[in-house]
Amino acid sequence: MKVDYLIIGQGLAGSLLIHELNKAGKSYFVFDNPDLKKASDVAAGIINPVVFRRMTKSWLIDELYPQLLKTYAELETVLAVKLFYPIPIKKVLGEGEADFWQKKYVDNGLHNYIQSNIESNQSQYISSSFGMGLVDKSARVDLKLLIEKMKNLLQKQARIRFEKVNLLDLKLTNDQVRYHDISADKIIFCEGHAVSDNPYFQDIKFKHTKGEVLRIKTERYSCNFILNKAIFLMPEGRQFYRLGATYDWDNLSLETTQQAKDELQEKLSKVFNDRYQILDQQAGIRPTTHDRRPVIGIHPKYNRVGIFNGLGSKGTMLGPYFAKQFCDYLCGKTDGLHPEVDLVRYFRK
Ligand SMILES: Cc1cc2nc3c(=O)[nH]c(=O)nc-3n(C[C@H](O)[C@H](O)[C@H](O)COP(=O)(O)OP(=O)(O)OC[C@H]3O[C@@H](n4cnc5c(N)ncnc54)[C@H](O)[C@@H]3O)c2cc1C
Repeated sequence: MKVDYLIIGQGLAGSLLIHELNKAGKSYFVFDNPDLKKASDVAAGIINPVVFRRMTKSWLIDELYPQLLKTYAELETVLAVKLFYPIPIKKVLGEGEADFWQKKYVDNGLHNYIQSNIESNQSQYISSSFGMGLVDKSARVDLKLLIEKMKNLLQKQARIRFEKVNLLDLKLTNDQVRYHDISADKIIFCEGHAVSDNPYFQDIKFKHTKGEVLRIKTERYSCNFILNKAIFLMPEGRQFYRLGATYDWDNLSLETTQQAKDELQEKLSKVFNDRYQILDQQAGIRPTTHDRRPVIGIHPKYNRVGIFNGLGSKGTMLGPYFAKQFCDYLCGKTDGLHPEVDLVRYFRK
């Protein structure tokens, strides 16, 4: 088989790149390791255009936002499912934070993304003496469904194999990449945190982050917004909620821990007082770089090897824009990648 691109990994990064390659009329074949837990399966899929700690816009959000709306709408059509759910985030404010919220609304030009007025709390199950700030351009993307439906489509088209790619079997020549019975013009690695084992990318400074989430069922609490205060509590239908997430830079195992469960419950107890049942706990590893920017591009020494990775904790926002940019770059429609994401930043002396 001869294709334009071999894509390694079908998490969010791989799926978004595949979508762009489809639109560009390129051929590809995908390998995905079924034994490795995807970050994309664990992620809450929240789109939050604001960095609460500093009350600034999230990096590049004015550019990312229109593209993400476009991409998820296209994917909803292609995959014939609903994926994108606009839903407000209500941030429980501490003492003095209401003034900070209103000041930064003006100073940082946040009017497209948040409300300036502070809401008073209407729920008996939430403790919030100083009111709540409202983000009204936030959303949730059903990543699990996106990946599942994309996988089914690829399977139907016989364009995916469920196996781990063994790099010892990869042959690079001047005019092609060969892996077993498939030859391609280029190979693009979208491996998530497993990239750390990839010999082509040992120069990239990764700083992956483990995250854990709980799925809970509340006794009576029911709402249609994401509650935020050091944790998020995101509705997933009736009284079912996703509670997350932890950040751990040291323990990068995929096992769930009692420590993370305790931490999430403890943080929740500070703002929430309904009883609930824990249904499930999951762990995943966010593929993150040292500067928290994605890492994208063609290897400066191996011109048939590329990477689309480093989506960190904001894959749902960053992914659509940079998948489009990378595909345009691969197709020769643009000269360069954004300098802050370009892989070559790790190779400059
Ligand atoms: C707890 C948690 C909560 C999160 N919440 C959010 C959120 O609310 N909003 C948000 O935007 N982001 C969130 N994220 C981050 C988000 O999950 C990531 O940005 C995104 O999913 C990364 O996608 P990826 O495709 O790069 O990696 P992955 O989803 O991990 O996919 C990588 C794929 O590559 C495959 N692979 C690797 N090596 C090989 C190989 N050699 N051969 C074949 N296949 C291979 C793997 O099997 C896997 O399928 C969260 C992450 C975690 C862990």
